[in-house]
Amino acid sequence: MRLTTTGVAHNFEKSIVGVIAKEALPPDQRTRAIRFVGPNDAASDADLMGYRAILCHDELHRDPGMPYIHRLRESDHLRDGDIVVLEGRTGLVRSLYRPYELHHHLFVTERCNSNCLMCSQPPKDRDDVEALTERNLELIDLIAPHPPYLTITGGEPTLLGDNLFRLITQLKFSMPETELHMLTNGRTFAWPKYARRFADLDHPKISLGIPLYSDFAGAHDYVVQARGAFDQTVAGLHQAARNGIRVEVRVVLHKLTIPRLTKLVEYIYRNLTFVEHIALMGLEYTGYTPRNIAELWIDPYDYQDELEGAVEYLAVRNMTVSIYNHQLCVLRPSLWRFARKSISDWKTLYLPECETCSALPACGGLFQWAVKKHSDHIHAISSPQPCVVDQKCWST
Ligand code: SF4
Repeated sequence: MRLTTTGVAHNFEKSIVGVIAKEALPPDQRTRAIRFVGPNDAASDADLMGYRAILCHDELHRDPGMPYIHRLRESDHLRDGDIVVLEGRTGLVRSLYRPYELHHHLFVTERCNSNCLMCSQPPKDRDDVEALTERNLELIDLIAPHPPYLTITGGEPTLLGDNLFRLITQLKFSMPETELHMLTNGRTFAWPKYARRFADLDHPKISLGIPLYSDFAGAHDYVVQARGAFDQTVAGLHQAARNGIRVEVRVVLHKLTIPRLTKLVEYIYRNLTFVEHIALMGLEYTGYTPRNIAELWIDPYDYQDELEGAVEYLAVRNMTVSIYNHQLCVLRPSLWRFARKSISDWKTLYLPECETCSALPACGGLFQWAVKKHSDHIHAISSPQPCVVDQKCWST
């Protein structure tokens, strides 16, 4: 599903965040809204007054004397209630939040202190922290209704410094009922003072998702392309737990992680007993992965022995384990009950084979970019019906 479009911007330079209104609103409800004027929508001047900005699919023939973007290349994806940001210099319109989706994210920075071989969001070394923080503070203020789950993601969120604490504090006061999951490499948590300060935020529903790719330091450091990362991440996991911060461990499965998967889950069971959830995740064919595909690719069909062994090992020891980003037709039936619909709505793809598949309602499908690279064993399942997959928000 489309997230961005562009048009021609006038009358503003700083970015504007607002809620799309496709119908005219009463004047006292316009200050947070961006009025969208669709094709054949004959809005009068009075209809356009008082909004944060105007978005117009076609050419706007008169200057309304306020920020506006017209001549949009696409607008079908914009719905009433979506929260978007408008960029004055480029005419970019980016969707930040769509209330009707199951998975919601707060994207906080493109910067990172690791450089993982399969990173789906390759880091960029430009200082986006202040601008994105201000945008996200506005976004949090506009989100309604509050979602049950929200994922804080980047880049590496802890690189925000004090701004991360500002964001989480705002989330705590604006939507304390929303469960927050922050995806971090965990390295910053190795500093006891940092972990203590994070815990002192006292958010009632926050947890960390921290990747660990091997029980062997050299292998983990190679995957994340950062020497010493294993030691920092493991120390960070312990510091988080010591301070009462809930943690999940994430493992991306590929040719470099599969050989030691059995050892890794034993390591987690013996050394990270406090971990509340382990997510074993399929590879995304985006970001850095295509350029490193020769080193990373293994067909998921070919690691079912290792995956089944790891899941069974954890499950019989009462550790909570899930499989993300895998198609039911590629997984062994014994693993179906651990499979989650983890792919964000806008990233999900189903192939032509899926149309006749009895497992379609329970299957999480593929990433959109898997159209270029996916298992050779995708096939429609005729019967019996697989078990129902848990519908909780499991986000990647
Ligand atoms: S054929 Fe499609 S819907 Fe069926 S299990 Fe495979 S990926 Fe899922």
